[in-house]
Amino acid sequence: MMFPPIERVLVVVAHPDDIDFGMAGTMATLTDQGVAVSYLLVTSGEAGGPDHLTRDELRRVREAEQRAAASVVGVDDVRFLGYPDGRVEASLALRRDISRVIRDVKPDVVVSQSSDRVWDRVYFSHPDHLAVGEATACAVYPDSRNPWAHTELTEEGYAPHTVTRMWVMGLEPNKFIDITDHFDRKLKALRSHASQVGDRENLEGLLRDWAAGNAKQGGLPEGRLAEAFREIDAR
Ligand SMILES: [Zn+2]
Repeated sequence: MMFPPIERVLVVVAHPDDIDFGMAGTMATLTDQGVAVSYLLVTSGEAGGPDHLTRDELRRVREAEQRAAASVVGVDDVRFLGYPDGRVEASLALRRDISRVIRDVKPDVVVSQSSDRVWDRVYFSHPDHLAVGEATACAVYPDSRNPWAHTELTEEGYAPHTVTRMWVMGLEPNKFIDITDHFDRKLKALRSHASQVGDRENLEGLLRDWAAGNAKQGGLPEGRLAEAFREIDAR
């Protein structure tokens, strides 16, 4: 598969911190190469976190944490759709809202979560992740490229745009990004989510083990660290 060079990337996930666990190292790698990266968060994560905060307070805290984490890896375009955390459905409204951002950002690559349930562990498949994965795939094809889908977007001035590839987390991977030189930034980005990871023990060891396992699976040399995706031709 030969693709044109990547200039713009849009990441779509359900919750603050989803990006930083799974792919912040990749985002640091891309922004260092001059790629423009945008984040789109469907919820603001107000259903998980310290009980002494109101949900409105927590929403503000988690949005601020996500913006801080993004800036660590060179991303300053961070958008929130404000859907209710824990209640996301792959609705036509969500497909339209993601399509609007795709048409605005015009990414070459859309990075997303998987819509496939993994039965190995229940927490691998949060319902919000499945719904966002499905809605994002629908937004990539056909909604954002089809002038007859969500015609209100055309009326708002957003012209159709064709995304050429997707990188999906949580599927059998075929693309491995070496993040060894950016591992410290990934850790710092993840630690920005203080309401979630706090002073969690051995966060670094856990991340390092995951990344080493990815590198091994991808056939990278001993001692390297990687993040893993399934690259999908969306043309
Ligand atoms: Zn999540």
